[in-house]
Amino acid sequence: MSSLVVAIDGPSGSGKSSTSRGVAARLGLRYLDTGAMFRAMTWWMLSHDVDLGDPDAIAARAGEPLIESGTDPLDPTITVDGQDASVAIRSDEVNAAVSPVSAVPAVRARLLDLQREIIAAGEGIVVEGRDIGSVVAPDAPVKLYLSADPEARAMRRAAEAGGDVAATQESLLARDRIDSGRATAPLTMADGAVHIDTTPYTLDEVISQVVALVEATVHEADA
Ligand code: C5P
Repeated sequence: MSSLVVAIDGPSGSGKSSTSRGVAARLGLRYLDTGAMFRAMTWWMLSHDVDLGDPDAIAARAGEPLIESGTDPLDPTITVDGQDASVAIRSDEVNAAVSPVSAVPAVRARLLDLQREIIAAGEGIVVEGRDIGSVVAPDAPVKLYLSADPEARAMRRAAEAGGDVAATQESLLARDRIDSGRATAPLTMADGAVHIDTTPYTLDEVISQVVALVEATVHEADA
């Protein structure tokens, strides 16, 4: 599994992050949360008073923040200009601004370079996001698309982050609309991806399904 890439895409609350971390931990792989990178970029823009209604203003500064992601699935870290941003990137302010920032092509180009550098820098890795199987790692031998009913997604997210389920659902659906409708690298099910609707399963069940799929793919390649 030394250079294996497992690409996991899907909307927020589909179980992507917990599944990706669990699969990476079980298989001894690295883990990359690309959503955290887009959140870090958004947090930096907010902290530097960039006008987020102006895509050109965002594009002009997309090269500035130094974003570093740790890839241990048991302790994923994210720093911006050397400062721990793991809590700040989960704020309501970032939730509301991250999809418009992520739709800016210069932001995507910058983070795509960083993501590919991290993937190439070490051993096998589970990478989660919206465009991993379609754009970031289209040659990944294992691609998954996780989804879940909007009610289930909102309940999971509200349980993790606190807050009202109805408001959480509204915020998730607003992000989905922008993420799926943008011109550059929209959220999509990549060619060759296996779709798992996680609604009826526990986290452990989904992790086991994905681990079995990865192992079957690796054995097939070895045979
Ligand atoms: O995964 P998470 O919900 O933390 O992602 C936050 C936002 O980052 C998404 O709503 C999307 O706008 C953006 N994103 C993206 N491409 C990725 C990962 C995340 O556009 N590969």
